[in-house]
Amino acid sequence: MNPIQLFDTASSTYTYMLFDTATREAVIIDPVDTQLERDLQVLRDNGLKLVWSLETHAHADHITSAGQLAELAGAKTAAPAGCGIETAAVQLNDGDTLNFGSEQIRALHTPGHTAGSMCFVWRGHVFTGDTLLINGCGRTDFQSGSAEALYHSLTQVLFKLPDDTTVWPGHDYQGKTSSTIGAEKAGNARVAGKTLEEFVAIMEALHLPPPKRIAEAVPANLHGGLRHDAHPANSLQVQPVSGYAGDISPALAWRWVQSDEAVLVDVRSDAERAWVGFVPDAAAVAWKQWPGMVSNPNFDAELLAAVPVGKKVVLLCRSGVRSIAAAKRATELGLVAYNILEGFEGDPDSHAQRGHLGGWRLRGLPWRQS
Ligand code: FE
Repeated sequence: MNPIQLFDTASSTYTYMLFDTATREAVIIDPVDTQLERDLQVLRDNGLKLVWSLETHAHADHITSAGQLAELAGAKTAAPAGCGIETAAVQLNDGDTLNFGSEQIRALHTPGHTAGSMCFVWRGHVFTGDTLLINGCGRTDFQSGSAEALYHSLTQVLFKLPDDTTVWPGHDYQGKTSSTIGAEKAGNARVAGKTLEEFVAIMEALHLPPPKRIAEAVPANLHGGLRHDAHPANSLQVQPVSGYAGDISPALAWRWVQSDEAVLVDVRSDAERAWVGFVPDAAAVAWKQWPGMVSNPNFDAELLAAVPVGKKVVLLCRSGVRSIAAAKRATELGLVAYNILEGFEGDPDSHAQRGHLGGWRLRGLPWRQS
């Protein structure tokens, strides 16, 4: 069974999807932000449920859609531990495996293009990112690259895989789609038959211009590709208020929850959660209960039980009214409490919103609720 291979012409990047045929659980490797709609469509067309979004490294030539896929499709994100992608839910070390359905993908640490770079092995396939390209390899002249390390990764890690392993590269600039370990071992112009010294000399002589988008792409990719500052609703600034710690955007709330700095508390009523939908990862502490909108007599105790000492609390309701009242009460109880602007009903058609609470909403639910 082959992976689905997708191509971004602007950056010549290959993205891969692989899946378990029984459960339809899927993994995406190196997704590109400008191809988000295409990738969501491919998932839908194939009836796939995305469970993992993986990066081979922090890219310098395109921006990942990992953060958006996490929010829109419910995927968990994983990235090499050595790449500094702090927003990834799972930090991968050499030999780590991830499961999807009854399938498994294994991470191989292959430093060289960058210090943290990884390849991923699934069945008879290896996804080589920018470590091994068809008849080439990734550059080693920036982003903690090392020609010596790359030579070791190529010859001692990748070339130790079985010769018939299919190589799926992170890029190709000539329209080639795949190769094999045997073919690259025998014929790769940079490394086949070369000593370490010869390889280093080849790499040093390349003198490549810097990638066009490096200044923009690398910082974004260290945050899962989310560029929060592009829209006011994505502001990462706390807006000062009186009576509680501040108003924050869904984007900032999402970031704090992802990094475990804050506990997300959904203060809607049990009835609304049942009708409209729950928010995964949120503690449910109703401010008022329907029917009748009576105050929840246990609010204080339930809230204090939900928020460990030392963590912020970010409060969410339908439209931002109850969450403000709840944030004020939480402050009186001694918590550092923030209100999430726009609440659960933020406009799902607003791109900014879709990326954040829209994603929380989508994980257990249809996209739009009346
Ligand atoms: Fe790269």
